[in-house]
Amino acid sequence: MDRREIAVPGKIPVLDISCEVQALKPQIMSAIESVLDRGAFIMGQNVKDFEREVAEYLGVNYAVALNSGTDALVISLLACGIGEGDEVITTPFTFFATAEAISQVGAIPVFVDIDPDTYNMDTNLLESALTEKTKAIIPVHLFGQSADMDPIMELARLHHLIVVEDVAQAFGGEYKGRKVGTIGDMGCFSFFPSKNLGAYGDGGLVATNDPDLAEQAVMLRAHGSKKKYYNELIGFNSRLDEIQAAILRVKLPHIDEWNEGRHQAAARYRRLLGEFEGIILPVEEQYSSHVYHQYTIRVRNGKRDELQARLLEEGISTMIYYPLPVHQLPVYRSMNVSMPVAERLSIEVLSLPIWPQIEESTQQFIAETIRASLY
Ligand SMILES: *Cc1c(COP(=O)(O)O)cnc(C)c1O
Repeated sequence: MDRREIAVPGKIPVLDISCEVQALKPQIMSAIESVLDRGAFIMGQNVKDFEREVAEYLGVNYAVALNSGTDALVISLLACGIGEGDEVITTPFTFFATAEAISQVGAIPVFVDIDPDTYNMDTNLLESALTEKTKAIIPVHLFGQSADMDPIMELARLHHLIVVEDVAQAFGGEYKGRKVGTIGDMGCFSFFPSKNLGAYGDGGLVATNDPDLAEQAVMLRAHGSKKKYYNELIGFNSRLDEIQAAILRVKLPHIDEWNEGRHQAAARYRRLLGEFEGIILPVEEQYSSHVYHQYTIRVRNGKRDELQARLLEEGISTMIYYPLPVHQLPVYRSMNVSMPVAERLSIEVLSLPIWPQIEESTQQFIAETIRASLY
């Protein structure tokens, strides 16, 4: 897509990766070509180098590259010894995979409601969710903003709980100057193509400072073996593809610049939409360096769906993350729990187009259309 076309009504996607693809194509093609020339397609040099580079970037001792963010969550929980009958506290306002991973290992997801300003786990509710079976907490850094980690870590220390961070939407984000994904016992990243650091296929990674947890993850990703044909555990086939690692290594050096581009785009939205009372803009907390994986507003007075339809008529795509909180999905509905804030937000939220190179004129048109639609 021609970049100039983006500002033309009729074609504003919710995410446009074509700018990035165009800019990096020569480097990406040569990275892929060198994988083909070397002929090592599984656990080659690029995977090892990518792990080292991510560990360095995050400031963490170990990074273990995996097949997906979902596998990163499952493997982390297993590495930490979470299993049958254990309870794991998490947020109902997340992508399904967070809870699915808990169920996948035989544990029970226990949801706590969210803070309406940050869309993240309301840490005031954590204590009341504890039982004798509680073994872990999975905070999600939703839409690119860190969860409030201090109270989570404090409670975890007090009750000897594991903390597994779901960082699928927040690569490079920070909490009080520390990279998210390095604060809990393990951090789980996703390189799904639409994430703020995305591969051109599936990918994921776990980060940890604990050598034993790293070793467990290394074994679990390769059929439970450290040594080939000497299997010590029941594991998975969950390796990051060598070609994806090569692509990610081209992209990693740009992540700060891209996150900064998203941050600036968010500041422009704030300026363009700021004083408009039909909507509530996302709040950026002091403790967090937000990477705006999504720019998610709340639309008041039951007008969200109408606004989304109007924007689409003008060619502006938006997304609803998430139309149903996880506890209301068919698979968990029988739990019969109520999470009033998450339920209310699921009918108010609307994620606007955002990507690092989005142009001001595009955002201006989006903001004007929103104002005109809600007037
Ligand atoms: C995308 C995502 C995942 C899953 O990552 P995959 O790589 O798609 O498996 C998990 N949690 C959250 C919050 C996500 O956004």
